[in-house]
Amino acid sequence: MSLADAHGRTIDDLRVSVVDRCNLRCTYCMPADGLPWLDRSEILSFEEIERLVRVFVGLGVRTVRLTGGEPLVRKDFPVLASMLSGIDGIEDLSVTTNGVLLERDAAALVAAGIDRFNVSLDSLEHERFHQLTRRDELDRVLRGLRTLGAQPGVGKIKVNCVALRGVTEAEVIDFAELARREPYEVRFIEFMPLDGDRSWRPEDVLTGEEIRAMIDEVFPLTDAVRPEHGTAKVCAFADGRGSVGFINPVSEPFCSDCNRLRLTAEGELRTCLFSRRETDLRAPMRAGASDAELAQLIEDAVWRKELKHHVGEPGFVPPPRTMSQIGG
Ligand code: SAM
Ligand code: SF4
Repeated sequence: MSLADAHGRTIDDLRVSVVDRCNLRCTYCMPADGLPWLDRSEILSFEEIERLVRVFVGLGVRTVRLTGGEPLVRKDFPVLASMLSGIDGIEDLSVTTNGVLLERDAAALVAAGIDRFNVSLDSLEHERFHQLTRRDELDRVLRGLRTLGAQPGVGKIKVNCVALRGVTEAEVIDFAELARREPYEVRFIEFMPLDGDRSWRPEDVLTGEEIRAMIDEVFPLTDAVRPEHGTAKVCAFADGRGSVGFINPVSEPFCSDCNRLRLTAEGELRTCLFSRRETDLRAPMRAGASDAELAQLIEDAVWRKELKHHVGEPGFVPPPRTMSQIGG
């Protein structure tokens, strides 16, 4: 079974947002005062998430990433992780987290069957981390990363850094050194217009190519390789000590190769990060729709998946949701 869109792409990757709340307030994602949070009854229950993921997997989804908001603030999140890791047909189950609660949950999540972790970390310097996330939690995140790395059987750990012009340049080399010193693949993500303050400007985007050139001057890099459907272009250090990745959705969109769907915490299916339309799966599910009926709704929505995003083009209108409300 495989899911296809009208543009000939096979869609086999699903990002599931398990909660809209977060314990950080990153400037590029959320407003300082947070957002109007969803009521508990609006958020999909574990059983509802499991059911929908089974339907997606039955249609051809093979990789599932759990995200948010901050997934680890959802109560009993490791229980959900183990419910999902039991689904036949998922080849890769991963989590994207800000790392604040990893010290508490890393062991439970690895035991629950999470194959891979992406940990977001935008600064290695206390004051800058505090300014960017509006919380003084760098030490907890670093302890969380260490705890995660110490888990027997933990898969590849990726450290994701959103690159902001005027901010990130100061730490590009420190992040490169982190990637050389630790078994992490450090990846720089271009800033996208999905911030809560709606203050994104094209000139704030520090491109992946600019960062690659800065690193290459100090630590020579090999040519970039982009795995099929991988969003990151990965460059190894020429001396063989690790690698860095560049996710360049703004300067080098990878829409033609996009294989992704997103399910929001309240059960809306989104076929593009920048979608302005959504398909509600919660209402039909709670009204008694069968799995076959839900599958049909998903297939119809996927068929209409957007050809590409229009960031940077005249007339671009950002979606009403911020990144935290979508599930990045
Ligand atoms: N709270 C978790 C975290 O931060 O890892 C998971 C959710 S967060 C929305 C997922 C990813 O989106 C993070 O790596 C974050 O840095 C990234 N992100 C958020 N807002 C962004 C933006 N405006 N542009 C680019 N990436 C963004
Ligand atoms: Fe929270 Fe992640 Fe958004 Fe930062 S990027 S505010 S950690 S959801």
